[in-house]
Amino acid sequence: MSTNQIEEPARDDRKVVLVTGASSGIGAAIAARLVREGHHVLAGARRTDRLQALTECTADAASHSGGSLHPVRLDVTNRSAVEAFVQMALDRFGRVDVLVNNAGVMPLSRLDSVLVEEWDRMIDVNVRGLLHGIAAVLPHFTSAGSGHFVTIASIGAHQVVPTSAVYSGSKYAAWAITEGLRQESDPSIRVTTISPGVVSSELAATITDSGAAQAMRTYRAHAIEPDAVAEAVSYALAQPADVDVNEIVLRPARQR
Ligand code: NDP
Repeated sequence: MSTNQIEEPARDDRKVVLVTGASSGIGAAIAARLVREGHHVLAGARRTDRLQALTECTADAASHSGGSLHPVRLDVTNRSAVEAFVQMALDRFGRVDVLVNNAGVMPLSRLDSVLVEEWDRMIDVNVRGLLHGIAAVLPHFTSAGSGHFVTIASIGAHQVVPTSAVYSGSKYAAWAITEGLRQESDPSIRVTTISPGVVSSELAATITDSGAAQAMRTYRAHAIEPDAVAEAVSYALAQPADVDVNEIVLRPARQR
């Protein structure tokens, strides 16, 4: 993408939004929705071919809304890469208004399977990746006197079931870190946690444990569409500056 070009927003409510994990599922739906609403979205993920396809899919909407989508190769486990992601937004637009920390993996398994590398990956992406985003953006929000963090946590941040110990642990951590950020932040910085139940996406594809994969097929039968989560994000962003939507929990009506 080109840099050093400040684009002035045509409307007061046009935001510069960073979305991590935007190459599929919930992140792609959030990015597409925000472009349709006229926002400028930097869409980060490792699969740049998928980001390129998303850019093409949203091109018409962008030309109507005045928004834009900018694909950026991003591995959230790499702190320098997250800093560079933020710097791209600053170079291009002169500011960052929103960080949607969405990137996540969910290779479920029982603890006695001892899939330590998969535990590490969940901690690296779901927890360290989130912290890298906060570290890279918080100083800018503080000096700007405004900004909005949105964390995509999970219903797994509220409950543990067999095979979800480490995933839920990473999402409890994401919930706690985001709640702490909300409590510590200046009131000019808004902080929102979105905790979805089962959503149709590629998330279960990261499961290598056959028992957990089989259980997930049944569990995920009543998934809702990622657009439902995108709508929740859109709602939180659209509130007046003095209204902070702390948390939204949404799940399929059939999920208990
Ligand atoms: P997907 O697997 O479809 O999307 C996950 C996204 O995370 C992809 O864009 C992937 O991109 C990205 N990602 C994974 N690892 C990295 C990394 N190291 N650096 C950057 N991006 C990465 O699943 P969902 O859309 O469902 O998941 C999105 C979020 O929603 C996750 O945090 C998940 O825990 C949460 N969630 C999902 C639920 C569901 O039922 N689907 C329910 C509750 C919460 P790439 O591989 O290209 O890097």
